[in-house]
Amino acid sequence: PNTEIREGTQVEERTFVYLKPNTIQRQLVGEVIRRFERRGLKIVGMKMLWMSKEQAVELYKEHIGKDFYEPLIKFVTSGPVVAMVLEGPHAIELVRHTIGNTDPLKASGGTIRGDYAISVRKNIVHASDSLESATREISLFFKAEELFDYPLLLEEHF
Ligand code: GDP
Ligand code: MG
Repeated sequence: PNTEIREGTQVEERTFVYLKPNTIQRQLVGEVIRRFERRGLKIVGMKMLWMSKEQAVELYKEHIGKDFYEPLIKFVTSGPVVAMVLEGPHAIELVRHTIGNTDPLKASGGTIRGDYAISVRKNIVHASDSLESATREISLFFKAEELFDYPLLLEEHF
């Protein structure tokens, strides 16, 4: 009998992801979400939102003062984004590998940024980079009742 869900992968994590405004403009929302789903990640929360200046500043506070900071804040608040929380074994690191390097010049083919991005600023997608930032970022954009606990019927096959 199968006593283990997702064999050898007990560390279930949640991570925060959002599709940047240019991804909505380029009509790549479905393409990007499909890649997360195919990886086997579970969508436990998802919504479209227009980020406030305050949310953007909080999200990117580690970058205050850098030369790319002001244009970045302006860009991410320039239009609606699609935000989600993804769950799975080692989801934080797994999603970072799936999206690829921040700089599209360095992102490998087969990664989301490596396949769809040409600009560092407009690099398609954001994902949390640590457990600490995932916790902080999820609570910045999602209320507890907007996140759902449910079984994925195919889970044992991933
Ligand atoms: P991420 O976690 O991979 O998104 O990268 P960072 O947290 O280091 O930076 C946040 C975002 O700022 C990146 O996704 C880029 O859009 C942007 N960014 C980071 N470094 C640079 C840079 O050197 N130049 C420009 N133009 N944008 C940058
Ligand atoms: Mg980051």
